[in-house]
Order: sequence, then structure tokens, then C-alpha cells
Amino acid sequence: MPSDSTGDIHKFTRGLAQACERHGVQFHYDAEITSIEQPADGRLSLMVDLASEPEPFTFERILVCAGVKSRDFAAMLGDHVNIYPVKGNSITICLGDETGQQRGPWVSLLDDSAKIVTSRLGADRVRLAGTAEINGFNRDIRLDRIAPIVVDAATFSRGIDLARHSLGRSAANDAEHVAQGWTRQTAGGAL
Ligand SMILES: Cc1cc2nc3c(=O)[nH]c(=O)nc-3n(C[C@H](O)[C@H](O)[C@H](O)COP(=O)(O)OP(=O)(O)OC[C@H]3O[C@@H](n4cnc5c(N)ncnc54)[C@H](O)[C@@H]3O)c2cc1C
Repeated sequence: MPSDSTGDIHKFTRGLAQACERHGVQFHYDAEITSIEQPADGRLSLMVDLASEPEPFTFERILVCAGVKSRDFAAMLGDHVNIYPVKGNSITICLGDETGQQRGPWVSLLDDSAKIVTSRLGADRVRLAGTAEINGFNRDIRLDRIAPIVVDAATFSRGIDLARHSLGRSAANDAEHVAQGWTRQTAGGAL
């Protein structure tokens, strides 16, 4: 399709973080918010584990973007957000030499029967994602979920050097924006 395109979510999120920093945003990585309370003054008190050291923060307003964990945060604030995790898995294949790069698909493909989609990530990588697992929250990577994606990759292009594929998960869980959450949430955020 002429309007179809793909993007690299890693590049996108890193670029977005850098743009936010230029506008004065401060990021705390490897930080876990363990509690949120709203005392009588209306401000919000957060307890955050920073490098395993608890540190308190106070804010006038917060925006919760915690994926499936948003439900827990909502509960701390006396609200109910009806989100349940749906887990998918993806593999990223390095296309290696020129032959592999020519044989890998440039357009997004959808294998309806196997429920697998492909996205080209630049000249030398292609990503395949598939399956939806409704089984609570966990970060396990199950071989029986990954194997059909690898088999599908081998079917669509036998020229790909599968020995060089790197296994990974583009995201652990999905939230409100469902399967196309990355592409849709920027527009959703603008609304
Ligand atoms: C295999 C797979 C393939 C996908 N493919 C696509 C695709 O091709 N295109 C597309 O548009 N979308 C795709 N998605 C969907 C997309 O990844 C999600 O919709 C999107 O990542 C949701 O973004 P989010 O910021 O709302 O939540 P998340 O990305 O889940 O981010 C929530 C963040 O909150 C943090 N957090 C949670 N609890 C705490 C806490 N207590 N303290 C501190 N931080 C906390 C988490 O660590 C996480 O970083 C895919 C998803 C999967 C699983």
C-alpha cells in the first residue's frame, strides 16, 4: 500500500526522550514507583525505588502511562481501569549479506492463518511478531510461542540467514491501545 510504512520503536523512543530533555524533562531510569498517596492538601506523594533506595517525590499532577500496571496505579488512587495484559512475542532477524537483504520483504506482510506480521526495519533487519497470550502478567519467553514465528520466517524467505537471528521481545505486554499501541498512542495522546 502506498501509505504503508514502518518505524523503529527503539530509535523513536530514544529520540523522543532526547527531545523531552531539551525541553527540561528529567528522566529517572531503573526506577520503580512503589506507592502513590493523595494527602488532604491535594498533592500527590510518590515513593520511588531509585537504585533500590526509596526516595519520596511530591507532584501537583501526574499522568499515568504504566501499560498494564496502570490498573495498579489507578487502584492506589481509588480509581478502576479495566486493563488486562495480552502478551505477544516477536523476533528480529539480521538479514546479513546483500542476498538476504534483497530477499527479505520491504512491505509489511500479514500471514492471516498463522497470525504473524512482518515489519522491515531498515536495510538489514526484519521483525516478525505473532500470537496473543491471555495468561496474566509475566515476562517468560516460551519456545512454543517463538517457534511458529521462526518457521514462518523460514517459509517467507529461505535466503535469510536464520543462524544470525536475534531473539527478543519488542514489548513485554500490551495495554489500552492494543496491538498497534505504539503507532496509535501518539495520536491518542494528542487527543
Ligand atoms: C510482540 C509485540 C509486538 C508489537 N508490535 C507493535 C507494532 O508493530 N506496532 C505498534 O504500534 N504496536 C505494537 N505493539 C504494541 C505496543 O508495543 C504497545 O501498545 C505499547 O508499547 C504500549 O505503550 P505504553 O507506553 O502504553 O506501555 P508500555 O510500553 O507497557 O510502557 C509502560 C511502562 O511503565 C513502566 N512501569 C510499570 N510499572 C511501573 C512502576 N511501578 N514503576 C515504574 N515504571 C513502571 C514499565 O516498565 C514500562 O516501561 C506490540 C506489542 C507486542 C507485545
